[in-house]
Amino acid sequence: MENSCLFCRIVAGEIPATIVHRTDTTLAFRDIDPKAPTHVLVIPVAHHADVVALAADPAAAADVLAAAAEVAAIEGLTADGFRVIFNTGRHGGQEVFHVHAHVVGGAPLGPMLARS
Ligand code: AMP
Ligand code: ZN
Repeated sequence: MENSCLFCRIVAGEIPATIVHRTDTTLAFRDIDPKAPTHVLVIPVAHHADVVALAADPAAAADVLAAAAEVAAIEGLTADGFRVIFNTGRHGGQEVFHVHAHVVGGAPLGPMLARS
């Protein structure tokens, strides 16, 4: 646990969140500012800063992906489809440096990237 990390503090129960799924190694909770009808964040319990660090721990990476699929099923997204996003680093727009998969769906999500 990193005391200064927002998502470690959610894991520790120090900051409230709406939990939708939990395993020994993962936690899934609703995004505080949803960008789609369903928007859930899936994190490893152990602190990894970003998806590059997560990839160095293949067991944790597999657990996060499995939890993302479980969340999609729980939220009723599997039939119509959904998106799993790992924003990474500055160009990726990452704001919280405890890796998290955004599971978004519940409506057509449009093009993958906005054209600028
Ligand atoms: P990213 O830009 O990929 O790092 O995404 C960070 C996400 O965390 C954003 O979608 C925020 O809305 C979300 N977020 C920030 N604080 C909280 C919180 N306390 N509980 C739930 N989601 C949060
Ligand atoms: Zn953390």
